[in-house]
Amino acid sequence: MRIGIDLGTTNSLVAAFKDGAPVLIPNALGEVLTPSAVSLGEDGTLFVGRAALDRQLTHPQATATTFKRHMGTAHRRKLGKREFAPEELSALVLQSLKRDAEAFLGTEVTGAVVTVPAYFNDRQRKATRRAGELAGLPIDRLINEPTAAALAFGISDRDDHEPFLVFDLGGGTFDVSIVEIFDGIIEVRASAGDNRLGGEDFNEALIGLAEPRLGIERQRHDAELLRTRLLAAAETCRRQLTDADSGEFALTIGEERLATTVATDEFEAQVAGLVARLREPVLRALRDSRIRADELSDVVLVGGATRMPVVRKAITRLFGRFPNHRVHPDEAVALGAAVQVGLMDRDIHLDEVRMTDICPFTLGVEAGSYDPRGVFITGQFSPIIERNTPIPASREQTYLTVQDKQREIAIEVYQGESRLVSDNVKLGCLTLKVPPRPAGEVVVNVRFSYDLSGLLEVDTFIPATGERANLTIADDEGGMPQAELEKRKAALAALKIHPREDAMNVALLARAERAYEDHLGPQREHLSGMINHFRAVIESQDPRAIDEARKQFSAALDQLEAERFL
Ligand code: ADP
Ligand code: MG
Repeated sequence: MRIGIDLGTTNSLVAAFKDGAPVLIPNALGEVLTPSAVSLGEDGTLFVGRAALDRQLTHPQATATTFKRHMGTAHRRKLGKREFAPEELSALVLQSLKRDAEAFLGTEVTGAVVTVPAYFNDRQRKATRRAGELAGLPIDRLINEPTAAALAFGISDRDDHEPFLVFDLGGGTFDVSIVEIFDGIIEVRASAGDNRLGGEDFNEALIGLAEPRLGIERQRHDAELLRTRLLAAAETCRRQLTDADSGEFALTIGEERLATTVATDEFEAQVAGLVARLREPVLRALRDSRIRADELSDVVLVGGATRMPVVRKAITRLFGRFPNHRVHPDEAVALGAAVQVGLMDRDIHLDEVRMTDICPFTLGVEAGSYDPRGVFITGQFSPIIERNTPIPASREQTYLTVQDKQREIAIEVYQGESRLVSDNVKLGCLTLKVPPRPAGEVVVNVRFSYDLSGLLEVDTFIPATGERANLTIADDEGGMPQAELEKRKAALAALKIHPREDAMNVALLARAERAYEDHLGPQREHLSGMINHFRAVIESQDPRAIDEARKQFSAALDQLEAERFL
């Protein structure tokens, strides 16, 4: 059976298409949101999800989060003694979701549809596919997150829809898509976005505001530990600001408790620059689809960061109306991924539904030309597939040699909207041998094929020699050759994981350790006693007693946390 996965910067979800409808699958803790967090224990045991996120506060050096932001780069994260590529950390999350799905469905999972930000480039998409390979979970299709949300929205009622806009602001990325539903065809008209803008950036801005007020003596603390505490404080404070006019920015470090109050208007002034960046992609998507804001029937909000009142206000101002609340901001993308599984499996319940998506950016090659004075200018971008072309797409362009007796021609592949390649993203390069002839006499045909997963293939043909070549985008940045991939896959598979039935105990202990760090004095003693007691009950191996102790322990922690905010 296949599953649909929303592999998020902050949270990941898994869903399946069952009995004619998409359903969310709970993890071993019974929750549908699994934090995209990975932590390694001292003995090499792996923690994924909630327990890993809680361990971040107590073991920042051994814990990784927000690694999706580094997908497609050479960035490596050291956990304990081992280094991990972003796609390896993603693979560990995928593996965990796959296990949850197998436990829930009672059958083997053989493949997945995984969502990616529409604005993810080719490198980031290929890294995501590699994550699947590393996890032993074949990714049959990548689909764009806002497209998945639109599928979930479109399936919830089957009526035709005037163009609507999906506004997806998550932890690390921002995507906008304009979608229309007509006669069962869900058509993406345009997408735009910013893959470096999300809730995390609002946390950074909040730290910039609050930290100077705390009078932290930096030299007294471990830099990484301090950073983790500041980020956690920002996240909590920002969520309070969603529900109230002020939030407490507080952290415990060493034996000190530091706190300051942040008012809504201060926060809003501080993030004005980030909020302003939401505008441009919206305007571009409208322009590209030739739709005016007042022609949109709905603005559908997706992604946890759209809960922020400052973001909602900006949206209301931008569109002159209130956004739609019909889809669940956390769940829509995963549900849509499951609908895509249903479409690929030709489920009869989706008989009349079809979907067409587009390529959100322009793809092309570097080309040179002579200016009017006869000076040869290099570094110019020659588009082959223009942005917002429906996919799959295949286009061919012809290029000529520019020098007499030229022996080689370099096909440099770029993505972006700038006239100069230096401002675009380089995806790869292919060097072809050409027969030495006068300038302009050797022709190279370059074909770009962009598939349904948003992955690019480049094929070249030189009629003069009959030679063909194919460019698998050279992964000089962060890529892995096949042999390396197999080795790493085996290494990941060898990591020790907790048995599923222990997941709740493991998560509870991680939470208690976190609470210990976060409190002082008598509460610490109390916590320490409870941790020791619970560990002893676990040792007893009596399932009934463990269940009972877990309930009590969990309730005690809830109470402690509730008291904190009194
Ligand atoms: P991703 O798809 O990137 O994993 P999500 O859609 O899960 O992201 O959204 C995560 C982001 O939403 C985080 O930055 C988080 O701080 C933010 N978020 C979630 N709930 C709230 C809330 N109540 N108030 C403010 N921000 C929130
Ligand atoms: Mg998301």
